This record gives sequence, structure tokens and C-alpha cells, in this order.
Amino acid sequence: MENCFVDCHCHISANEFEEDLEEVIKRTREASVKTLVAVTEEVGEFTRVLQLQDSYPDLVAPCFGVHPLQASGGLSYAAHRIKLYDLDAALTQFYDHKERLVAIGEIGLDFTPWCAPTQQDRDDQMSVFIKQLSIAKELDLPVNVHSRSAAKVTIETMREQGISRALLHNFAGKPSIALEGVKAGYLFSFPPAVCRSQQRNKLIKQIPLEHICLETDSPALGPDKHVRNEPSNITLPCCYIADIKGLSPQTVRLVTAQNAYRLFPKANGCTSDM
Ligand SMILES: [Zn+2]
Repeated sequence: MENCFVDCHCHISANEFEEDLEEVIKRTREASVKTLVAVTEEVGEFTRVLQLQDSYPDLVAPCFGVHPLQASGGLSYAAHRIKLYDLDAALTQFYDHKERLVAIGEIGLDFTPWCAPTQQDRDDQMSVFIKQLSIAKELDLPVNVHSRSAAKVTIETMREQGISRALLHNFAGKPSIALEGVKAGYLFSFPPAVCRSQQRNKLIKQIPLEHICLETDSPALGPDKHVRNEPSNITLPCCYIADIKGLSPQTVRLVTAQNAYRLFPKANGCTSDM
């Protein structure tokens, strides 16, 4: 099962895929993607991601999470700053569907100044993050994590909370901070957007391959900023990482898939269990 791709972080329940989902899934399978670790950003998406697992049980591995940035009602992210009560509607769902979840995510911290301008905003994000980390521990699930302008504090918080299994998706912090995460046993995934510049070459070079996974973050973070991204583009970060590390794409594909199933063991069973 490991001679395949695992997209460790994608938003297949996003509205952007509603119209031509069948086609997207067809291209996903043609690209040898065997598992889509399907994260959510808000409670409103939870049902959709379970429906997708019903439709594609061999492919979709659901995660529930409340993202630090909420775009409720189509407003811009900055329009709704997250509060602990935003988790209220989600809480029972985590427990009701725990058997089907492969991880808690997308959760995390985003301290980009225009998203979290005040200390209160950052404190609120922290409460929501810590609460979901505690749920992950309670349910014995790994976490699928967003961090932006908050690399160090995200890793420190997870360590303090006793989190041992985490994926830091689209990580863009300093290599020295990433290596703290490596020491803690965390993994890092990179989307097609890394190919747009050489900014993260040094970072990718320093993280051992055993701590790297592949993702697309579809429909965002594609090779072209203005074009919808989709899971079949996972070949791009694979080749890019292979190039930086002087390895074959086949090696990167194999090792990252092994890493992914080690981190998300329930995702590996999504074929046989259903
Ligand atoms: Zn995401």
C-alpha cells in the first residue's frame, strides 16, 4: 500500500470542488494518490467530510478541526476572530464521530498581524488550540496543524501539552525551529506552492526525510497562485523535495507515504475497514 501518494492535508470538502468532484477524484486516483487526509476548518464542514468518506471510503480519511481563522458567512478572515465558544457546536461531534476520525485538524495558531492584531485575539486562538489538543489526547488521535507567524509558539505549546503525534502543514518557520519539532517527533508537510520559489529549500534540506510528508492543501497552495489546486498535483512537491535532497522521486514517494501511515495509522486502514 505504500507505493502511492498520501495527501496529508487537503480540503476536499471545500465548495470549490462541489461542481466537478467526480473528475477531481478520477484525476486523484490516476495520480496514484491512495489517501486524502481531509481536514476541516469549521463545524459547518463536518457533515460534508463524513459524506465524502461514505462516497469514497477507500480514499477519504476524515479529520475534524476548528481553524484559528474563521471565514464565517463568506466574510474575510479578519472579520471573525475566533473565541472559545466557537468550539461549542463542535465538541459533541468530535466524540460522536471519534471512530471515523484519523486526526484532529485543521487546528493551530495564526499570528499574522492583520489576522490577530491584539493580544486578546492571540489568547483566544491559544485557548481554542489548547482545547482541541486536549481532545486529541483524550481520543488518542494525532493533530493536523496550521501555524503562521507562530512557528515557535505552536511547537512549544504542543510540547507543553504532551502532544507526541503532529503534522505541521505548510511549515514556513526557521530551520532551527523546525528541528525542535523534529526532536519532539513531529512531521512536516509541503504543498505544491513550495515550488513557486526557493524560499524553503534550506528548511527542506535540513528536515530529515523521515519527518517529511506530502500534502496539497487543495484548493489552496497550488503551483499557480490563481488556479485551484487539486490532489493530483501532489507529484510536484514530491519531485521538488527529491531534487533538493538529491533522491529519486520514487524514494520520496515511498518514504513520505510510510511516514504518513505511521502518523495517521487509521488512514491506512481506510480501504480494508469499510
Ligand atoms: Zn489547510
